[in-house]
Amino acid sequence: MDKLKKVQELSELLRAYQKAYYVDGRPLVSDMEYDRLFDELSELEEENPDLVFPDSPTKRVGSDLSNDFPEYRHSVPVLSLDKAYSEGEVLEFMEKCIKKESSALTFVGEEKIDGVSMVLYYEKGVLVRGVTRGNGEVGNDVSANIRTIRSVPLRLSDPVDLAVRGEVFLNKKDFERLNEEMADQEEKAANPRNLAAGTIRRQKSSDAAKIPLDMFVYEGFWTDRTMTPKDHLHILSELGRLGFRINPHVAFFAETKEMASAALLDAGLAGDAYSFSMMQEYLDAKTRERKGLAYEIDGLVFKINELDTRERFGYTEHHPRWAIAYKFESPQAVSRLLGITVQVGRTGRITPVAELEPVHLGGSVIKRATLHNQEYIDSMELAIGDLVSIVKRGDVIPAVEDVIEKNSDGNTTYRINGICPSCGTALVASGAHLFCPNRECPEQARQMLSFFAGRTQMDIETLGPKTMNILYDRGLVRKVEDIYTCDYDSLAGTPGIGERTIALIKTSVENSKKQPFKVVLSSLGIAEIGKKSAEMLIKGGFDSMDKLFAATSDDLEKVDGIGPKIAQLIVDALRDERLCTTIDVLRQAGLKFDASDEREEKLDDSLSGTVWCVTGSFENFNPRQKAMDEIVKRGGRTVSSVTGKTTHLLAGSGGGGKRAEAERLGVKIVDEKEFLALLGKGEEKKGQEGDQLVLF
Ligand code: NAD
Repeated sequence: MDKLKKVQELSELLRAYQKAYYVDGRPLVSDMEYDRLFDELSELEEENPDLVFPDSPTKRVGSDLSNDFPEYRHSVPVLSLDKAYSEGEVLEFMEKCIKKESSALTFVGEEKIDGVSMVLYYEKGVLVRGVTRGNGEVGNDVSANIRTIRSVPLRLSDPVDLAVRGEVFLNKKDFERLNEEMADQEEKAANPRNLAAGTIRRQKSSDAAKIPLDMFVYEGFWTDRTMTPKDHLHILSELGRLGFRINPHVAFFAETKEMASAALLDAGLAGDAYSFSMMQEYLDAKTRERKGLAYEIDGLVFKINELDTRERFGYTEHHPRWAIAYKFESPQAVSRLLGITVQVGRTGRITPVAELEPVHLGGSVIKRATLHNQEYIDSMELAIGDLVSIVKRGDVIPAVEDVIEKNSDGNTTYRINGICPSCGTALVASGAHLFCPNRECPEQARQMLSFFAGRTQMDIETLGPKTMNILYDRGLVRKVEDIYTCDYDSLAGTPGIGERTIALIKTSVENSKKQPFKVVLSSLGIAEIGKKSAEMLIKGGFDSMDKLFAATSDDLEKVDGIGPKIAQLIVDALRDERLCTTIDVLRQAGLKFDASDEREEKLDDSLSGTVWCVTGSFENFNPRQKAMDEIVKRGGRTVSSVTGKTTHLLAGSGGGGKRAEAERLGVKIVDEKEFLALLGKGEEKKGQEGDQLVLF
């Protein structure tokens, strides 16, 4: 389709959806579908700047204007909020603000109430008007309905001229009760937000009065600016003193927790104090608390506390530059479930995987997503052909989140066949999962071999899944220890495997013997011994296989981070005879089972004082952890996001977002070639096999 036509079509659709959502309180599509179309339009506009029109829905605050109420021009800024979906993005925002201001800043964290945005205007302390957000410039005067809200003071304790912003909402319990009472009517609302939006727009205020709406206020604008309190915390406490309902769940972020506590105390607010490093703790706590709150929140809002900084930062057409909303729900995409395949993991665990119509999500094309287990499929009543929503949180594997529309083919809820797809053994249930109990199951063995040789484990780069499968099928490598006893020369004559490849395989197998004990230990697939626990055990004194074999669960429990349950599971796993045989053979082959004489390799200090973020993919550093290791070996530090403190961005192919951020912050961008030169290595392309197309 012609791009201009597509832009027009999307804009029209979004405007229609905005009206249904904001004005009628009856959304025509899910928020996810709305956000997807919104993102599609934003992307089109980014690629084609000549198709950006000033009235585009992406450039304006979603309008809630209706013809049923008189219009009123706002005298204060009434905009939307920029969004973040992870701790990293929130901290990045904060660091950017601090860098821009070149001074310490503090931030207030508030709950993002999922209600209806409202502005109240007071003259000499008397409520004169209640106005909706409208299009950000002009809103609807809904004063009569606002006056029915008990928590909205009609007269303030001081005769001030003031405008306040806040959110009108309905408690979850009241919503449920009211919706139940409306059980026989068609007019049932989907959620408290929609019922609140509908109530605010009732023509008769006596009808509005029947719905017990509530309101929290969170911003204040004094006409006489000399009366403005000194910062946002003091604005909140002053609004409380004047008679408004303030959400008591305030958080305050400063360099240290003590500084944050002192600021809250000074403002007379009972909130929670945090240092910036405690951000994840705060996000986790709020995510947990969310369900138990009396009202709905759809995120958190972080605002700069210092008002002079806010003034300097100002606003875009869409949002203030001094605040950001952290949304609980990350971006989603919609796709059709084409089929379900069942994967057998190295421990025999069965994972159903959704095969999807390819769809763009968070910068990549998704074709497969995890369905976890049968219970998960049942909870959604998922069937082949259903239209589903997919989410990707942080860097984790995408998951099918929900069914949006049932298939029209009559397919019913998918059931995992009770037979292992690899060896035909009857599956057994353990907890929420199904397992193939056959220890000789070929797929389990293949997965274990791939895991062991994988890039993040022993890193035997020439033994990729393709070669490993050939070795397996020929009966040359069936168990991990076979890798070190195999006669690779017998591969000669195999199509695609020449002499050179055989020599490379032998070298990389030989090289893998140099891997430190912690890598060997975590590569063996021993229950509960992953990378982290291997490190903890070694740090805790169990720095050789012999010491581990001799340990009791009481001994292991003493290690920091190892609890009694895990300790027992490790001890049990180490008793396995097959594991003992494997270890014996590997020990004879020369693998390291002792860390007592190992020291972290440090090459030089050439990158000391530098802070690197690594993004995109590389020919020579795959996975990119390898590039990070090179940095650390030379005294540099690595971080996961580009912030004010980042000195270099190592950019491979892809990774657009971080590159843009680095450009904005003036961070030095280094490509792979430059990086190799910096490390003192020439360009060295590896003849490495592609990674397996297995998700887990
Ligand atoms: P937003 O989600 O971008 O958030 C901004 C709003 O948050 C502010 O205007 C304010 O009213 C509110 N807010 C709540 N608590 C706050 C606090 N403590 N401090 C500051 N502000 C606070 O809101 P938006 O711009 O109105 O809407 C965009 C979103 O609405 C979309 O992403 C979509 O999810 C949804 N939407 C859905 C449809 C649909 O058809 N389903 C249509 C339009 C919009």
